Amino acid sequence: MKPFLDPDEIRGFINNARPSKERVREIIAKSLDKQRLTLEETASLIQASDPELIEEIKQGAKILKDTIYGQRIVLFAPLYVGNLCINTCAYCGFKSTNKAIRRVTLTKDDLVAQVKALEDAGQKRLILVYGEHPKYDAKFIAETVGIVYSVRSGPGEIRRVNINAAPMDIDGFRIVKDAKIGTYQIFQETYHEETYAKVHLQGIKRNFEWRLTALDRAQEAGIDDVGIGALFGLYDWRFDLLGLLRHANHFEAVYNVGPHTISFPRIQYASQLNIDKSHLVSDADFTRLVAILRLAVPYTGLILTARETAAIRDEIMQFGVSQIDGGTNIEMGGYANKEHAETQDIDLEQFQINDNRSLNEIIDELLQHDYIPSFCTSCYRKGRTGEHFMEFSVPGFIKRYCQPNALLTLAEYLEDYAPEDTREKGYILIRKKLNEIGQDSFRQDLIKKLEQIKEGKRDVYL
Ligand code: SAM
Ligand code: SF4
Repeated sequence: MKPFLDPDEIRGFINNARPSKERVREIIAKSLDKQRLTLEETASLIQASDPELIEEIKQGAKILKDTIYGQRIVLFAPLYVGNLCINTCAYCGFKSTNKAIRRVTLTKDDLVAQVKALEDAGQKRLILVYGEHPKYDAKFIAETVGIVYSVRSGPGEIRRVNINAAPMDIDGFRIVKDAKIGTYQIFQETYHEETYAKVHLQGIKRNFEWRLTALDRAQEAGIDDVGIGALFGLYDWRFDLLGLLRHANHFEAVYNVGPHTISFPRIQYASQLNIDKSHLVSDADFTRLVAILRLAVPYTGLILTARETAAIRDEIMQFGVSQIDGGTNIEMGGYANKEHAETQDIDLEQFQINDNRSLNEIIDELLQHDYIPSFCTSCYRKGRTGEHFMEFSVPGFIKRYCQPNALLTLAEYLEDYAPEDTREKGYILIRKKLNEIGQDSFRQDLIKKLEQIKEGKRDVYL
């Protein structure tokens, strides 16, 4: 048995769950009553295979999103800094044994050029991604984070830099914390240790426990803003869904705060992909698992990436996704390389993405569907950590902070980067949301701040 993960217990929950319709409805109602679900209850939702119940679970997730979080979607972009790697992960194009891949570590100038291109598109939030290699130690990561924060292009700036990097020791985590990272994100890939051993063939990453306890070391080092994830398709999605939940529970029990975000990447085509395909997750199961996750951890942010097609992203966003990437290009050096803006070179990428829309295309479509695109970074910069928890549990928090900040960052985008038709759509949405706020002081304050943005003031937030 691992520190907090007991595979027999997880398997037992799945095998023993035989929920009646009434029980499934009770569990959905518990989540809508803003209570996190137990593993046993989540296993009941997982085992509810009647199409009518699956639909009710999805409806439950939609209601939870609409009544609690509203229509905001936070936007970010991934930026690959280096693809050197000493590990051999069967699913990843960057595996050390892949000789077809071109190995690149961005120089300082390359990194600056990438960040300028991202800022010129309107991005404000990035996640930096690194292979696992002695060259990418904590000091290197901290330096690259510092460079990203320092780049300015016109009115552009990156206000939040998250990282996805290999596990570090406590001293290493202290170094990256001092570089003022936002979220430290790491995926366990699979919580099933035997499968983990089969797909991690060489390198440090073979050590299941070192990875499983990475976020505990991050906490020791003072990083309390962390993101977890599982790579769906390696093993039974039911098991890994409960694994994620157990990991989140561990955090709440020991540190009194859950993970900030949960990611649920699904395996995509990659150069020299070499996996057993029997656990690949169908679209139907994938949409279902995201709805179950939403209900199970109602106050945790959910991240959905451009690995998925626009159609799947549109469907799943309704179930309470809080962040998506937009204008994504995961080719090494890809953002600054205009010729490659819309093509993919699999020998420069970790895997293939399926949503190549530009940031503006994504924003335009979000606006058409009445979502509020947001680049808000205010909680983090005002020291309000645990923002999802606050959004969820502090009455009026969303009305007081999240919604106005989403509108203010949208207005900045509309002023600085949007083409005319997107700008029009954006201001129609802003006016509509202002009208919904009513005639109170929030509304007046927000109107004043929106005017300041039109007059050229930037980085206006609550
Ligand atoms: N090297 C670091 C590590 O392993 O933790 C960074 C992670 S990697 C650059 C980011 C994530 O991409 C991995 O944790 C994995 O979940 C995901 N990934 C790898 N190969 C993938 C594939 N073929 N399809 C989808 N996601 C993949
Ligand atoms: Fe390296 Fe990470 Fe890819 Fe594994 S998933 S091969 S550690 S980059």
